This record gives sequence, structure tokens and C-alpha cells, in this order.
Amino acid sequence: MKAKRIGFTTSFPVEVLYAAGHIPIDLNNIFVNQDADKHIYKAEIKGFPRTICSWIKGNYNVAITAKLDEVVGIVQGDCSNGNSLLEMIHEEAIPVYRFSFPPEKQYAALDAEIAKLEEHYQVSRADTHKIKQRLDEIRKKLVVLDEWTWKERLVTGKENHIWLVNASDFNGDPDRYEEELDSFMQMAAKRDPLPAKLRLAYLGVPPIYKNIYDAIAELGGDVIFNEVQRQFAMPTLLTDIVQQYLVYTYPYSVFDRLEDIQPELQRRCIDAVISYTQSFCHLQIDNLLLKKYIDLPFLNLEGDQPEDLDSRTQLRLESFFEVHA
Ligand code: SF4
Repeated sequence: MKAKRIGFTTSFPVEVLYAAGHIPIDLNNIFVNQDADKHIYKAEIKGFPRTICSWIKGNYNVAITAKLDEVVGIVQGDCSNGNSLLEMIHEEAIPVYRFSFPPEKQYAALDAEIAKLEEHYQVSRADTHKIKQRLDEIRKKLVVLDEWTWKERLVTGKENHIWLVNASDFNGDPDRYEEELDSFMQMAAKRDPLPAKLRLAYLGVPPIYKNIYDAIAELGGDVIFNEVQRQFAMPTLLTDIVQQYLVYTYPYSVFDRLEDIQPELQRRCIDAVISYTQSFCHLQIDNLLLKKYIDLPFLNLEGDQPEDLDSRTQLRLESFFEVHA
């Protein structure tokens, strides 16, 4: 059977796609790394409004231009626009599959969703678990890379972001991803510990800003904790696939996220928090609760287009450093 190229809209059990011999492709990673402006422009030409999040527009245009055989849309537990995005992709004659993280967050309900996915791709739970064991070998290395970011300080926040965010699909080729990760870690192991005069947490969806990590580093700080990117790398390494995706916090409530965030802020001796929100995103509302319950200096940055930090945001970042560094 020929391997299919299967796009998806956020991290979900990619183990099933790999078990079926397919190539999972995280639409977000292609959008933000390849001609992001063009993808947004093309979606707007098709009629997507200015007041819809750029990631939705980018993912739409990637989905219809990346020669995909199918798209898995996460319609519960991700984006409030997910269903409509999927309808538009389906309209372009691309087969779509809907996956949900059941909001009640119960084992039986998620087990049934994953079983349905396995049935769709004709794999057994044993097949899924075999791939999970393989991917967990790589995820174990990412746990070390994450420790090297906050403890040994051999890895920068930007590098941490790139490796963890790409663990959503392992760039479609886990063996190659692992080889490149091994080379990177061999190089990082030889470094002297990196300075960070302000130890920051980055909360929220990955940034659309192109230079946010560089701008933080230029001010002398670094991101020691990338919240959602770390979740994409499934750091808990639980052996059961259902358990793994139950403790994955991103699809669930802001309170589930806080249960992960709070101990990590302490463990990593975080000085201050940058909470990133995307314009026109429902997660801006969750941000209100993050701010309420996190007792650390807290800066909310809102991004819209794939560009460098605008002057106002840059100034806000500089002022935050002046006060807290
Ligand atoms: S940033 Fe928010 S609105 Fe945009 S795709 Fe992600 S969840 Fe949806």
C-alpha cells in the first residue's frame, strides 16, 4: 500500500498514522516555515475574513496546496474554528477525518475515539503501541533536551521550541528526525552553560512572530519553559496510548494546563512569564485565567501576522525587562 500524506491541525495520536505506514504532516509547521504570508494572502483571496486567526488561514491554504491525500481535523479540544476549516478543506475535494478529544476527559471516551481512528486507518491497538514505543525512544531524548534547557543550560529557548514543536509529527520521518536530534545534542553537550539574566516561561500556542526568541535573547533573557511545545513532545512517556493523550493538557481546560504549568514554574525557577495569544483566538479568554492564577510577573503578547515583533510589542518587551531583569 502506498504511504499517504496526511495533514493534521494539531497534535493528536500520530502513532496511528505511522502504524498505518502513512506520513503525518502538521499543517502548522509547514505554514509558519514556508511562505507564511503567501498562505494567508491566498486564503483571504478565497474570502477568509481579516478577523479570522492567521493560523486558520495558513493551515487552510497549506491543506489545499501540499498534495495531501487526507486531512485529520481536531474538532474538539483544539480550535473553535476547526469544524469550519474542515468544511472548507472538504469543499476542495480533499477527504477529511474528524478527531475529538472528548471534553469530559475520561478514559473510555478517549479510548473509543482512538479505536475509531485505528479502525479508519486499519491498524490494531498493538500496532499503535509498537509505534508508540519507537516514538517514545525519541521523546525520551527530548526530555533530556528539555532538561538541558532549564537545568544544564546547554540548549537555548529557541532551540528547545524548534525541537519540541516539530515533535508533533517528527517532520514526517522519525528516523531522520532522531539522527538530526542526536547530532544536535552531541554539539550542545560540548557547550559551556548559557547565561539567562531573566528565566522566562513561554505559555500559549507557538508564536507567529518570527524573532521573538531572538528578541528575548538580545535583552539577555531566555525561555526556560515552552509550555505547549513541551506538551506536543508528550514528555510523560506513559506506556498506554490513551493515558498519554489524557495527560496531554493542550486539548483540555485552562485548569488542566495550570496543573502542568504551576509545578514547572517552580521546578525551573522561573522569574517571569510571557503568555502569548493570537489575535482573534478564543484562547485569549483562557489567558485571563492564566494571569489570575499565576503569581509571577506576567506579560501578555499578542501576535497577528507572521512578521518580526512590531515596535510597540518590542517596546513592551524591553520595558518588562527593565522592570524585572
Ligand atoms: S491560534 Fe487559536 S484561533 Fe488560531 S488556530 Fe490556534 S486555537 Fe485556533
